[in-house]
Order: sequence, then C-alpha cells, then structure tokens
Amino acid sequence: MTEGPTARLRALQIEDEFKGKEVKDVLVRSKKVYVDPKCMVGKRLEKATSFGKNILLYIGNYLIRVHLMMYGSIRFEKDYSKPFRQVRLALFFKDKNLVIYNAPIVEIGLKGEIEEKLIRSYGIDPLTNWDKEKLKELLVGEKERKIGDLLLDQRIFNGIGNILRNEILFRARVNPERLVKDLNEKEIEAIADFTKELCYRFLELKRSGKGIKSMLLVYNKKKCPICGGGLKFYRQQPNSRKTFVCPNCQI
Ligand SMILES: [Zn+2]
Repeated sequence: MTEGPTARLRALQIEDEFKGKEVKDVLVRSKKVYVDPKCMVGKRLEKATSFGKNILLYIGNYLIRVHLMMYGSIRFEKDYSKPFRQVRLALFFKDKNLVIYNAPIVEIGLKGEIEEKLIRSYGIDPLTNWDKEKLKELLVGEKERKIGDLLLDQRIFNGIGNILRNEILFRARVNPERLVKDLNEKEIEAIADFTKELCYRFLELKRSGKGIKSMLLVYNKKKCPICGGGLKFYRQQPNSRKTFVCPNCQI
C-alpha cells in the first residue's frame, strides 16, 4: 500500500464487515504490544479509520495501529488463507475473522497514548486533520529541500505516496526538483489545494470500485496531456522514487 486513501479504504471495508461486532479472541505477534491483548476480548470494534498510511482500529479503550507498508495484507476469512507463520494479528469475530498478514507494524495500546504519539509523529492528513494553513507552514519551514522529496515526508504530507506526489506536482505545474525556498505563494497554494483534492478523489474512485486510472495524468504515462510533449521519467534523489515530469509545463 502506498497511499493514505488506500489505508482509509481498507478501514472503511473493515467497518462495513466488523463494526459493532464483539471480539471473541485475539492473536498478535508484535513487540509493540503495551497492554494485555486479551483485554479486548468481549469488547466491540467501535471504529476503524486511518491516519496517513496507518490503519487504526478502536476497541473499547484500546487502539490498534497497523501499517501494511508494501508487503502487508488484510483478509476477512474464517480459516487462514496464508501460512500461519505470516499472521501478525488476528481478531476473531463470530462469523469471520480479521486477519493481518506480514504487516511490519502492529501496535496495541491505550487509545489516548497511541493517538498522542501519532499526532506527534505525523503531519497533515487531508482525510483526517486537514489544516491548510498548518500544512503551508510546515512546508515553508523546509526551505532547503526539494518539493518532490518533501511530498513523501509523512511528518508533513501525511498519507501522500508516490502516485499522488507525481499527480499533485503536475497539476500545480511545479517541477519536483525545485527547492521549497524558491516556490512562490501561488505555487504553494496550488500544492496544498491539490493535495487535498486528489486525496479525496483517490478515495472516492477506490471506494466506488472504479480504480484510479481516470485521475492519472502523468503517473506511468509517456505523453503530457497538456502540451503533448514527452514526459521525462527518472528516479528522483534522495528518495529514488519513480518520477514523471513534463519539462514544458512543470517549471
Ligand atoms: Zn506538458
């Protein structure tokens, strides 16, 4: 999983399946468990949501944070569909179980403590704590960094992954190599506005089952949809991520 809206989609799917249902048992394999996980047995899944790329499960006074990174997956199933040794978390419900395989982060603790830590560690997630002025303030504080690199920094752009990063910069007409200190007010505004707009669009498209193809203007494309010229493809440093840029339209 590479984008915040994908984490939100998974959370919504978890709510559709398990919200209000009672946890019958818990199995967890993680070092980041700060409470007895059995405390959650008999309590109900009250809410599932996301913060950036983290998936959050609220059960009673407890909070489970899951980060799938690239390899983790979530399944709703009665029996394990993958090898048992890959199970990081299983929440057992009456009919189906919520099973998380291979996720690098599974953290369980008191709700307030985990929330506090999340707020401290992550920046603005358009889907959760949107605050345009705060985002702009965080952004302009990183003067010497390339904007294309900064967009992947979860302490600022919480939930932005590589697809959104490319699409935001193309729409804002900003070259990813530009340093933050060289951006003008209009460009900063455009980056902030498209960050929010595209996160919601991404989520809506995914939620409706359509897929995100229709919103991709440059990601994995060869031609610029504005000027018709060829897009430049390279891996931007220092993040080494796939970067698509129009040399004519993104200055
Ligand atoms: Zn162009």
